[in-house]
Amino acid sequence: METKQWLLPPDEVRPSHPFLIEAAKLLRQGEVVAFPTETVYGLGADAYSDQAVAKIYAAKGRPSDNPLILHFYDPGQVKEVVTHLPPLAEELFRRFSPGPLTLILPNNGRASSLATAGLSTVAVRIPNHPVALALLREVGRPLAAPSANRSGKPSPTKAAHVLADLEGRIAGIIDGGETGIGLESTVLDITLSPPQILRPGGITKESLEEVIGEVVVDPALNQSNAPPKAPGLKYPHYAPRAPLTLVADLNPSRRRWKMAAQAAELIRDGKRVGILTTDEDVPYFEEHLPGEPGNHWVILSLGERGNLDGIAQHLYDTLRSFDPLDVDEIIGESFPKGGIGAAIMNRLSKAAGRILP
Ligand code: AMP
Ligand code: MG
Repeated sequence: METKQWLLPPDEVRPSHPFLIEAAKLLRQGEVVAFPTETVYGLGADAYSDQAVAKIYAAKGRPSDNPLILHFYDPGQVKEVVTHLPPLAEELFRRFSPGPLTLILPNNGRASSLATAGLSTVAVRIPNHPVALALLREVGRPLAAPSANRSGKPSPTKAAHVLADLEGRIAGIIDGGETGIGLESTVLDITLSPPQILRPGGITKESLEEVIGEVVVDPALNQSNAPPKAPGLKYPHYAPRAPLTLVADLNPSRRRWKMAAQAAELIRDGKRVGILTTDEDVPYFEEHLPGEPGNHWVILSLGERGNLDGIAQHLYDTLRSFDPLDVDEIIGESFPKGGIGAAIMNRLSKAAGRILP
């Protein structure tokens, strides 16, 4: 299949733009089209069509028991798929939508049961991106849209990531430039009391609590033995090709020392090592690693360690950048779990095969 590509910068979006009309037509015909959101690129399909939604799972190689988030242009449209919109949902929409917050609500059965994996609940979100919102209006139906990557790989934050994974497998992609937040939405289940975060993301627990009071995090996210409530979180995810080992120690000097010691051992075993770090620590590794730069080791920085929003934005792109560099193993650093750090560490821990104290 030829994958159509449309270049549509956010500031050129207007209703009835010819590219949006073309993409919307394909979507209404039951094809899948990738588009930018403020979190990551999504792979959209008509949420009312089993046949269309089946193409998402096929293109991604995604397990069919992992339900999809449905995307809408406003809270009124959300009412099409839920039994009712609880006042709490209306309040959260007022405060955080459009934005990186997904709500779990009671399902009225109208959406494709493939998209909801047959659950009695449905995941809904209003994305805060001009291209996504204009496309949703043009289609006139909600779009089921997971991240537009092959299952298991880091999510796409650039059109090039989508094409690397899915070119030839999807009908089209709207290239709206790099995404802003870089990590997926927060998934909040408000059918539970108190509301529960099933996946940390772009909206922090702290900012939710300011608006709705107590919020708990699915306890399974901090233990390895209990299955997480969001079905998708039990699968490996976000991983670069080479195995990633994370050093959990947050003390700056011990962190550097432990990472360098791990890397040195691998280098002495003849491995080519990738270091996943931040600007502040690059000089330390350049000075302390044995062997030659570029040959025995390569360093990629996520940006300034103090700027967690920037780290989130560059995380997936940086993880993907190790693949063409052909490293055998990657050693990465950890971040404090406050604010957006919770989402960063959730993704890094899932990407990592091994976490050292
Ligand atoms: P993705 O589409 O890759 O961003 O992943 C969506 C996440 O939301 C996955 O972890 C799903 O398991 C989760 N999810 C979707 N629908 C539901 C639901 N009804 N209840 C709980 N989790 C859900
Ligand atoms: Mg995903």
